[in-house]
Amino acid sequence: MRILNIRERRIPISRYADPSVPPGGLDTSIVAVTTDVVRGSEPVTGFGFASIGRFAQGGLIRERFAPRLSMAGVGDLVDSDTGNLDPFRAWDCMMADEKTGGHGERSVAVGALDMAIWDAAAKIAELPLYQLMAGRLGRPVHSGAVPVYASGGYPYPQDDSSRLEAEISALKDWGYTHVKIKIGAGPLETDLSRIERVLKLLPDGSHLAVDAMNRFDRVAAERAAVQLQPFGLRWFEDICDPLDYETQSEIGSLYPHPIAAGEALFSREDAVNLIRYGGLRAGRDVLVFDPVHCYGVPGYLRIIEAFEQAGWARTSFQPHGGHLFALHLVAALGLGGAESNPHNFQPFGGFTDAMNVSDGMATLPDAVGIGFEKRGALSALFQSLVDG
Ligand code: MG
Repeated sequence: MRILNIRERRIPISRYADPSVPPGGLDTSIVAVTTDVVRGSEPVTGFGFASIGRFAQGGLIRERFAPRLSMAGVGDLVDSDTGNLDPFRAWDCMMADEKTGGHGERSVAVGALDMAIWDAAAKIAELPLYQLMAGRLGRPVHSGAVPVYASGGYPYPQDDSSRLEAEISALKDWGYTHVKIKIGAGPLETDLSRIERVLKLLPDGSHLAVDAMNRFDRVAAERAAVQLQPFGLRWFEDICDPLDYETQSEIGSLYPHPIAAGEALFSREDAVNLIRYGGLRAGRDVLVFDPVHCYGVPGYLRIIEAFEQAGWARTSFQPHGGHLFALHLVAALGLGGAESNPHNFQPFGGFTDAMNVSDGMATLPDAVGIGFEKRGALSALFQSLVDG
């Protein structure tokens, strides 16, 4: 078992489905990891990407983490029990000689490759990823549907009110019952009026979450918390700078409804500080760490373990990302639910082309690996990387 080839490419992505709206300047890395294992006359290739919301990581992938995988010896990456590619040994190989602390965004580079390794391992085992992962971790195999919610609601530069309403109506038509919209980009009064507009399309505030994208300072956060309280929202996410534990804790002491945090923290050590100093409330608040941004699955499992040791249930986790990989993790790890980006951040957001979301639940894809091959535009993008 060896890795024969690793390819990476930077891909621009947009917050908006409409190509005429300025995309917002984000990009991501796609990666293809080709092994020497053959299935159906072709070498198995796993695909991954650096999730959504940060940036491409080509330098770190090409110069540091991919070479370590490529230089691994025969047998170094093998699960001795199954003979399959072992994502945990691959992770140890990538992290060899990395120094403690200084997490930066190297965790995102590792996470992108980790996703592709899991895809390859599941393809080698000829299993859907959630089944392989549950088996590898000794967890029961999930067979039902996963609770999902739809993300969107970015401010539109023109016709914001009517376009926001049309967006939420479309999400409902697609089978979503719970949605999340962005706040914090403009005046609070504008945010409040957008919330009122969206709530006219939903049964009540428990079906709507808001995401402030870490933009509030302490004064703005307190003002927003007071104004948001009467809506009884599902949760209030990414309130302040992720390392401003004092403000985070202050809002937890005055805001009675659920808060969501963790999306912009990438290490177990940061997560432990959030537990110690962030004032979050087990059993009420929501944990939105992005598994890909947190050094991939091995890093994410360490964060789950830290919260469980502090008395939290893993159903408090609603992983950020809104894509197929995170959906598998929710099923395999027994988490609370999955985000979905069905119309923004294409072709990465959302699940498979044919996947039905019904009454707020999504079924897992019937495909080996992550199932990117069931998503036409994304599969074509990955194939173009392989074809060079
Ligand atoms: Mg967020």
